Amino acid sequence: MGYKSVCLDCHKSYSLGTDFENMRESACPQCGKRMVLLNHKFRPPKLESKQWEVVKILVENGFKYQRIFSKHDDGKLYAVDYPVTLKEAKEFISLYKSQAFKETNYRQP
Ligand SMILES: [Zn+2]
Repeated sequence: MGYKSVCLDCHKSYSLGTDFENMRESACPQCGKRMVLLNHKFRPPKLESKQWEVVKILVENGFKYQRIFSKHDDGKLYAVDYPVTLKEAKEFISLYKSQAFKETNYRQP
């Protein structure tokens, strides 16, 4: 368990461990912009990967790799996998926007 502090500009992520008392968003050591806190389940893509565009659009829409659930026909809730492509991400955002964080801390400076 724990959180990752991620810079969406430098494509870097830093593990913050489990010190929930001191959990806060900090500035990127590389570019100085504010980093976003993402769930520990987040797996950072490779540095040059197009995957970062998907991460960015998800975070901007309030999806910080928290668990998202889908209700199936049997009435049970199932955890949904996060999307991989930009097209899937757009569908994901419109399907699950009710579960997104209302206020994202991510802002362009
Ligand atoms: Zn940075």
